[in-house]
Amino acid sequence: MTWPMGRRSAAALASSGEVLHLIRTGEAVTRADIGRVTGLSRPAVALRVSGLLEHGLVVEHTDGPSTGGRPPARLAFNAAGGVVLVSSLGASRTQIAMCDLAGRELARTDLEIDVERGPDVVLPLLMDVWADLLGERPMSQVRGVGLGVPATVEFAAGRTESARVMASWTGVMIPPLISARYPVPVFVDNDVNVIAMGEYQEAYAGEVRDLLFVKVSTRIGAGVIAGGEILRGALGAAGEIGHIPVRDGGGVLCRCGNIDCVDSVASGTAILRDLRARGREVSSLADVVTLVRAGDAETMTVVRRAGRLLGEVVASAVNLLNPAVVVLGGDVAEQFQPLVSGVREVVYRRSTALSTRSLRIERSRLGPSAGITGCALMVIDHILAPEVVDASIGALSGGTAGGSGLAPAHAGRRPVTARGF
Ligand SMILES: [Zn+2]
Repeated sequence: MTWPMGRRSAAALASSGEVLHLIRTGEAVTRADIGRVTGLSRPAVALRVSGLLEHGLVVEHTDGPSTGGRPPARLAFNAAGGVVLVSSLGASRTQIAMCDLAGRELARTDLEIDVERGPDVVLPLLMDVWADLLGERPMSQVRGVGLGVPATVEFAAGRTESARVMASWTGVMIPPLISARYPVPVFVDNDVNVIAMGEYQEAYAGEVRDLLFVKVSTRIGAGVIAGGEILRGALGAAGEIGHIPVRDGGGVLCRCGNIDCVDSVASGTAILRDLRARGREVSSLADVVTLVRAGDAETMTVVRRAGRLLGEVVASAVNLLNPAVVVLGGDVAEQFQPLVSGVREVVYRRSTALSTRSLRIERSRLGPSAGITGCALMVIDHILAPEVVDASIGALSGGTAGGSGLAPAHAGRRPVTARGF
C-alpha cells in the first residue's frame, strides 16, 4: 500500500489511522518518534495512541532498549486483535484458512472440492470450514473475508466474470453470499492477482515497484504489479496471458479454439501430455517432479522446451511492461528448474536491452501458501487503511477535514463498511 504522507505539509495533521500505519510499518514506535515524524503535539499523539490502544489495535511494551532511566514505551501493532478468514479456490483443491492481522496463518484446512459444483455448494462448505477453524473464538473477532478465485473478477463488486474453470460461477456476486453469514467486509479477486500482490508485499515491497508474476500450474496466468498497484485493465482481465499464441508451438489446438496458445503448449497439462506422447508413463505432475529430480534427459528436454515457449510470451510482456522482476510461481515453476532456465534464456535474448538491463527473473519466495498469504494481505490492506481505521474508531481530532489535498487511498474500490474495532 502506498501511503501518501510524504506529500503532506506538516500542518496537515496525521489521523489515528495514519499513526497506526506508522506503528505497523515500524516507521515510528514510540510517542516521541510519532511526534517527530508527524509534527503532532504531545497531547495530540497521546490522544491518537490512546484511541488505538482502547480499540485493541496496538499494544504497549515498556521493555525497550534501556539507556539508563525508564525506557520509552514501545508501541506495536496488535496482530492478535482479530482474525481474517480466507480461501484460495483452485479447480480441484481449495485452501481455507484463518489468519491473524499480520497475515500469519493460524489454522488451515485443504479440501478437495470440484469448484464446478458451483457457488451454492462450494460457498456454504467454505463457511462451515471457517466456523470450525474459528472454534471458540467469538464472531466479533472476524474482521474481514478474502477469496482468490480462478476467474476474472470485477473487483469493485466482487463479481466473477468470464471464468477460466468456473463456468458455473459466471456473473455471481460473491460478497453478499458470504456477508449474510459473516457480516464483515468481503474481498474477492482473481487468484493470480492475489498471489502476485502477496508475493510483492511479502518479498519485494520497498525494493521494487513493478513486478510481473507468472503462475505456471495446470494453467498459465499472470498478475501485473505496476507502480506498487495491481494492474486490472478495463474489465479486470489484465494479465490473462494464457491464450497468447507462441511461434513453433507445433499446431496444438487449445481449448479456447485457437492454435498454440501458451497455455496449451507450456502449462503443466501440456508437459504431461507431451511426455505421454513420447510413451512416458506419467499420471501427475508429481511424477514429472520425480523425473526432473532424477535428471531424466527426455523430461528435461520437454520441460525446457515448455520454458522457452513460455519465455516468448514473457519476453513480450517484459517489453510492454518493463518490470524490475519477473517472478515465476505455481507448482510447475517452483519445482522445475529447467522451465525457469528456458524462460530466462528466451527473455534475455528476445527482450530489448533496456528492459532487461537490470531485470531479475526469480522463482516465487512464498511457495505453496502464497494464495492464503495473498488473500489475507488483500483483506488487511483494506481494513487497516488509514481512512477505514479512522471511520471505525471515530477518533479524528483535526487533520482529516479537507485541505490536505489527499485523494482517498482506495478511490474506485468498493467502499468498505467500517466495523467496530
Ligand atoms: Zn487458448
